[in-house]
Amino acid sequence: MQKYLKIIVDGFTGYWSYLTNELLYPSWHNYFYWLLGLSLTVWVLEIIFPWRTTQAVVRKDFWLDGFYMFFNFFIFSLIGFNAISNVGVNIFNDFLSLFGAKNIVALKVHTLPVWSQFVIMFLIADFIQWNIHRLLHRSPRLWQFHKVHHSVEQMGFAAHLRFHWMETVIYTTLQHIPLAMIGFGIQDFFIIHIIAVAIGHLNHSNLGISYGPLKYIINNPRMHIWHHAKDLPDGRYGVNFGLSLSVWDYIFGTAYLPVNGRDIQIGFSGVEKYPDSFTAQMLEPFRHKK
Ligand SMILES: [Zn+2]
Ligand SMILES: [Zn+2]
Repeated sequence: MQKYLKIIVDGFTGYWSYLTNELLYPSWHNYFYWLLGLSLTVWVLEIIFPWRTTQAVVRKDFWLDGFYMFFNFFIFSLIGFNAISNVGVNIFNDFLSLFGAKNIVALKVHTLPVWSQFVIMFLIADFIQWNIHRLLHRSPRLWQFHKVHHSVEQMGFAAHLRFHWMETVIYTTLQHIPLAMIGFGIQDFFIIHIIAVAIGHLNHSNLGISYGPLKYIINNPRMHIWHHAKDLPDGRYGVNFGLSLSVWDYIFGTAYLPVNGRDIQIGFSGVEKYPDSFTAQMLEPFRHKK
């Protein structure tokens, strides 16, 4: 118990000093400035090469999404998620080692060259996330949380990080279990996160790109806009669930790009009545308890 309490306290104080450090000392290993730099780069690209030329440079909810970006990346961790998830990870690892079941898959990933660890980690994590994302659409309870992300009515890079903090909890929890069993800890795979942020920003951007033949592997704006389509094909609870990679949707038959989706309506039915402030959106899923 004492151990877990200490982890909580260290989690808070550790995260606070981490955050102040991030802000004060720009470096290549700094999330804050990477996020800022990537956002500005994609925004400038949107301004120079817009896909929807009629869309305003400061589109609907631009600032709301900008706030979400910093909330989900930094503030949420600050107000306790970091501390609590550290405890969760420790309890889980202690539990696994009780049975000697840590690294159960015995892949000995840590003995592989670093670049191949990156690739394996990226593929596995993305596939797990693809499944979690499908679950967010399939479960009516979880959909209430994921609806926040789908309440975007005009696409732009910052829409990427408009999501309910509960998604962070769901993704982190569900993906830690299999990753820990394979032998990946919560090591900081910085480059993987940065690549995922870059692809995610581009997926939501107002850029009409799809990377040529690579579109079958890497998710892209032309594909992801259909994920946000207001009208889904009959009987489907969603399409194009890919996060960084589109390949899972092609393999499992959930890819859907009937025509150029540049001007399709996005959102869900009733989106115009959905709350449009940060606080109201945070509370909305909890008002649907049933
Ligand atoms: Zn979705
Ligand atoms: Zn999206």
